[in-house]
Amino acid sequence: MPKFKTIIEPFRIHSTQSLNFPDPERREAALKEAGFNLFGLHADDVIIDLLTDSGTGAMSNRQWAGIMMGDESYAGSRSFYRFLEVVTDLTGMSEVIPTHQGRAAEWILFSSIGGPGKAILNNTHFDTTRANVEFSGAEAVDLVIPEGRDPSSEHPFKGNMDVDALDRYLTEHGRERVPLVMVTVTNNSGGGQPVSLDNLRKVRAVCDKHRVPLFLDACRFAENAYFIKTREEGQNGRSPREIAREMFRLVDGCTMSAKKDAMANIGGFLAMKDSELARRCRNLLILTEGFSTYGGMAGYDLEAVATGLEEVLEESYLRYRIRSTAYLAEKILAAGVPIVRPAGGHAVYIDAKSFLPHIPADQYPAQSLAIELYRAGGVRGVEIGSVMFGKRLKDGTETPSTMELVRLAIPRRTYTQSHIDYTAEVIADVASRAKELRGYKIVSQEPWLRHFTARFEPI
Ligand SMILES: *Cc1c(COP(=O)(O)O)cnc(C)c1O
Repeated sequence: MPKFKTIIEPFRIHSTQSLNFPDPERREAALKEAGFNLFGLHADDVIIDLLTDSGTGAMSNRQWAGIMMGDESYAGSRSFYRFLEVVTDLTGMSEVIPTHQGRAAEWILFSSIGGPGKAILNNTHFDTTRANVEFSGAEAVDLVIPEGRDPSSEHPFKGNMDVDALDRYLTEHGRERVPLVMVTVTNNSGGGQPVSLDNLRKVRAVCDKHRVPLFLDACRFAENAYFIKTREEGQNGRSPREIAREMFRLVDGCTMSAKKDAMANIGGFLAMKDSELARRCRNLLILTEGFSTYGGMAGYDLEAVATGLEEVLEESYLRYRIRSTAYLAEKILAAGVPIVRPAGGHAVYIDAKSFLPHIPADQYPAQSLAIELYRAGGVRGVEIGSVMFGKRLKDGTETPSTMELVRLAIPRRTYTQSHIDYTAEVIADVASRAKELRGYKIVSQEPWLRHFTARFEPI
């Protein structure tokens, strides 16, 4: 690697997409039309779109070339066998079930092993994971370490599972109640924070003691592997690929969204060792997704995912990826805005609870901040707080989420440093008038995943 300190994008741009520049009047009108829900915006009304890193990245020329190689045979296509080879080599798992997204893998898994009276334990369930667990009738229990709930703690592995709490829960309830333990790498809803190998090994030991299977929610396995390489003692000499392979070999299965660390625009998979469970899962796959050698994907998607899984573990890519997120975090901190520390792998999470202490949780401070970033500069982030995770009680009141965050997720290989500099400038502008921001109330909502469609009004 070069001796200079600037970490450059390990690619050059090969084709471009132009940005739109809606003026302030248009942005105000767009907010009203969308019911102040940023999911409701027309993407053409957004300037810098940090809503999600899911499926929004740029594919490489190798991935696009792979798309031309897609074999669309209904059964047993060449593209499936290539996909299978890559996933099996990475995960060591023999049963690989292709799905159209991560949530389809979740639905199939929890329909097969969840249900009323059961509980799934996780460091922190992601929103679709929680929804699919609860939809099956099971309970979704989060057992992240206490540091993982404290935005200001600088713990290097804030995504770690609280191993003692896990052991206590399993001792008390046993495997009759807990069919599965999951670890989400990196911990998306907890700030994109990594899980250490040491923690995974300890979780494995507890699961073995109670004879409960352990799965990874593997969406950002490569970013997690890079954090292990750079932060965990004794790991620096290993390649991200070696570390990732070890992570997968510590578990019995995984769910994966290929829209994240497989660098594809769509796709996912469910993989496991247990062939009897896989048989039950494939029955649901055929019912809802498709035949077992394409699941929810076209042959060309399988090619893009296979190539993406190879590229994501390149060290020059991961160095640039993790550094560019940290760069945005440094700029936001320099503007005096509190964030979840340290910066996550795929996103920076602004701590709206401490940034806007005058807005109570039931007036959704993070929603207010997300709206203001769009209003000020056309930057779209997403609320990860009481709109997304507030628990509604029967009497109409709500238990707030533990954290009120605005997530700015960075699409892979998509924005340049000046896009990020612009974003930081918008945040600094909003920070200079934080006291003027007001809360919001919800005027309509759905029972599941309400944050996607709820409508709001300013208070
Ligand atoms: C995105 C994501 C999912 C769901 O994947 P989709 O492809 O969006 O359905 C599950 N878990 C985590 C941690 C995620 O980030």
